[in-house]
Amino acid sequence: MFYPEPIAKLIEAFSRLPGIGPKTAARLAFHVLRMKEEDVIDFAKALVNVKRNLTYCSVCCNITDVDPCRICSDKTRDVSAICVVQEPKDLVAMERTKEFNGMYHVLHGAISPMDGVGPDDIRIAELVRRLSDERVQEMILATNANIEGEATAMYLSRLVKPFGIKVTRIAHGLPVGGDLEYADEVTLSKALEGRRELN
Ligand SMILES: [Zn+2]
Repeated sequence: MFYPEPIAKLIEAFSRLPGIGPKTAARLAFHVLRMKEEDVIDFAKALVNVKRNLTYCSVCCNITDVDPCRICSDKTRDVSAICVVQEPKDLVAMERTKEFNGMYHVLHGAISPMDGVGPDDIRIAELVRRLSDERVQEMILATNANIEGEATAMYLSRLVKPFGIKVTRIAHGLPVGGDLEYADEVTLSKALEGRRELN
């Protein structure tokens, strides 16, 4: 390493983040060096707090600072529909549409045999436990429109059939292969509106 150890360590830490190559990591590290000390401390605190002060909602598995999360404890929401998404950021995308007033379930991933991710590796057991609540009438599958998202939707629809719950899949005005979070609000609202029942 040609850099002094503290900066070399910071470069290494940045380069472990997804999508950050060695060049970008070095650029970010030198940016930190130029930042005001109080801003660096705030940044470091934000990193630590995200681990220390966040937990998973015991109902929907979303990340939260209170348990149950604000959505699960909101009495004005419709408990008869559960919208299943892959990641917390997908829930945020759905909420931004303001079209859905039901509940959510966050899987934290998708089934992907290629990557060795099976049904037991994501929050499916927690979802199935919720379906024994007889108030649940519809499960909306809002997983991504790629192979993993489709495989997960297919798996869940088969798994849930015996519960006699209506299973729908959001329509794909969504770009194929696209992540939910990148869809604009109008596209996502239309996708929700045009959902169809899976057989
Ligand atoms: Zn929750």
